[in-house]
Amino acid sequence: MRLLQLKLHWQILIALLFALPAGLLSGRDGGLFGVTFYAVFDFVGTLFLNALKMLIVPLIMASIISGIAGIGSSSALGRLGGRTLLYYLSTSLLAILVGLVLVNLIAPGIVNGEPAQQRLGLAVDNHDVMDKVSGHGAGDVVGVFLRMVPVNIVAAAADGQMLGLIFFSLLYGYFMTRIGTAYAEVQYNFWHGVFKVMMLITEWVIRFAPFGVFALVARVVADTGFAAFAPLAWFFLTVLSALAVHFFVVLPLLLRLIGRVHPWRHYKAMAPALLTAFSTASSSATLPLTLECVEKNAGVSNRTSSFVLPLGATVNMDGTALYECVAAMFIAQAYGLELGFAVQFTIVTLALLTSIGVAGVPAASLVAIAIILGSIGLPLEGIAMILAVDRVLDMCRTAVNVYSDSCGAVVIARLEGEEGILQEKTAA
Ligand code: ASP
Repeated sequence: MRLLQLKLHWQILIALLFALPAGLLSGRDGGLFGVTFYAVFDFVGTLFLNALKMLIVPLIMASIISGIAGIGSSSALGRLGGRTLLYYLSTSLLAILVGLVLVNLIAPGIVNGEPAQQRLGLAVDNHDVMDKVSGHGAGDVVGVFLRMVPVNIVAAAADGQMLGLIFFSLLYGYFMTRIGTAYAEVQYNFWHGVFKVMMLITEWVIRFAPFGVFALVARVVADTGFAAFAPLAWFFLTVLSALAVHFFVVLPLLLRLIGRVHPWRHYKAMAPALLTAFSTASSSATLPLTLECVEKNAGVSNRTSSFVLPLGATVNMDGTALYECVAAMFIAQAYGLELGFAVQFTIVTLALLTSIGVAGVPAASLVAIAIILGSIGLPLEGIAMILAVDRVLDMCRTAVNVYSDSCGAVVIARLEGEEGILQEKTAA
């Protein structure tokens, strides 16, 4: 079949384009022989997501443990860790600042000089979400860091508490090299073997990505339609333009100036992962593809990517941090809150801290936004204002999250002296 000869990212892109009319035409109720298309989209999309999620726990553990053990000396590990954290914190902060500037300039929460709360109303009444986000305040930030050290790693893995799992794996990998060579070698071979098996399964699952992406996007389109966007158009545009500045200007500049690589080649190399991030709205679920693209297409070593990427999928969320800031500012504007330096500083700090703890799953930032609203004294109902467009923005911010992780891998690999990254022959 001709279609199968197309490169994967083209297949995914075509699937995505077809998903728009499919979702719009079918809506929630269209169907054949008593089966709605929506149910089919839901089934296929969930199957694909499940297959990706199934890989995450063994992939994170095996990748971090074998990655750390393979780094060797603790000074090399310290240097890599330091660079990684510095990259993550600074890019998240840059993203928040881009969002802050645009939300102040565009002021989407103010219409004709008036706070827009009345006009927007609390148009969407979604009890599920409100139940999920209620009862959160600034104290939750401490909870995020408490969960980093899990009481029970099996429970942490089962509950998707990736931070806890990552922390344990980091320790395990580090101390694995401190036992006698005979034991260390067996363990290294085992974990590296698990990692290789996981990557092979990933390659196999990825072949179904065009179908999964089609189903997931068609389901979102069928659910959302276009009507929801009108009242929130300015908010939507503010988030989108801020994400675009970060994605097309800030991150490529870092690639160019610090990584000294060709940014355009990196977009090409990462295309399958970016499109999957967009469709799944989950950076955790996309991690297998991110690893695959960064290693195979961009040519970053396994040593760097197996440390930087799993960590980044949980800790580094530029798009999320930016969104939290813009959303909190928008809601504050809409409620007519005086937005002085102190309030804006609180929003920026909390957006940075909570984005570290936010899980890489769909709609995870809503809880973080609830924490921010609670600490600047706004009612949680404010979140209801943005729900109608949250999913589509979630798709966009997740792509930015994944892209920033991948740029981190490239930049750090270059700082570590790696050659041959994003050469013409390695780019997909
Ligand atoms: N969906 C995002 C992610 O997985 C998290 C969020 O912003 O809600 O990266």
